[in-house]
Amino acid sequence: MREQRSKGVAGTAEGDGEASLGAAFVIQWVNELASAVRDQRDYLTQLDAAIGDADHGINLDRGLRAAVAKLEGMEQEAPGIILEAVGTALTFTVGGAAGPLYGSGFRDLGRALGSKERFGPEDLLVALRSGLGAIQKLGAAAVGDKTIVDAFVPGLAAFERGLRAGAGWPAAATRARQAAEDGMRATVPLQARKGRASYLGPRSMGHQDPGATSTALLFSALERAAGGTARAVGEPP
Ligand code: ADP
Ligand code: MG
Repeated sequence: MREQRSKGVAGTAEGDGEASLGAAFVIQWVNELASAVRDQRDYLTQLDAAIGDADHGINLDRGLRAAVAKLEGMEQEAPGIILEAVGTALTFTVGGAAGPLYGSGFRDLGRALGSKERFGPEDLLVALRSGLGAIQKLGAAAVGDKTIVDAFVPGLAAFERGLRAGAGWPAAATRARQAAEDGMRATVPLQARKGRASYLGPRSMGHQDPGATSTALLFSALERAAGGTARAVGEPP
């Protein structure tokens, strides 16, 4: 174990090291996500107005503000404990379908990392898989149902392929973000089979799914925390 070495965050020279990530990295990831959701709040809400009840951006923004506030003073905690705390904050403050889904996703992400101080990209892959598992266990959605899962599954698969390709973990995070955004765009023609949008039947077709869009933001926040340069989804070039 090399857990006591440099506290550098991801994207540093040791970004591919087996245990290069720590509390600072997960806090940055959550902060990046919170600021992206704040910027895109109205956009997410507009997407939800078309096929839901116009609250997705408002709900997530409220939850992530609560999560960020909770992280104040947690810099000394283990990364897994921090992500579990984010999950709890989201479960209790987001509401709707997305609250419990993202809440349990972050909770299981954190649990997978356990109490270790430092972790590596492979651990992150396992933890993301665990987070997706929680989301699918709770929501029972598969790819093609027009949900969060439509962005998460391809994002995660691309992250794994990127790690296997050996181009460095920030590059894997870039691939993940691109694939999550492709998955997000691919929800447009689909008919929703889960959640509120499914009540619309075929009228849900032709609209991008709000939850898949916020999941693309989760991967773009990961890319930025990894040291990449992604713009937030929906931002002008
Ligand atoms: P609500 O629909 O309760 O208002 P939100 O507006 O916050 O909740 O979130 C809506 C999003 O939740 C949808 O766009 C969809 O991506 C996601 N969602 C809904 N049901 C599920 C599910 N069973 N599994 C995964 N994601 C889901
Ligand atoms: Mg809604």
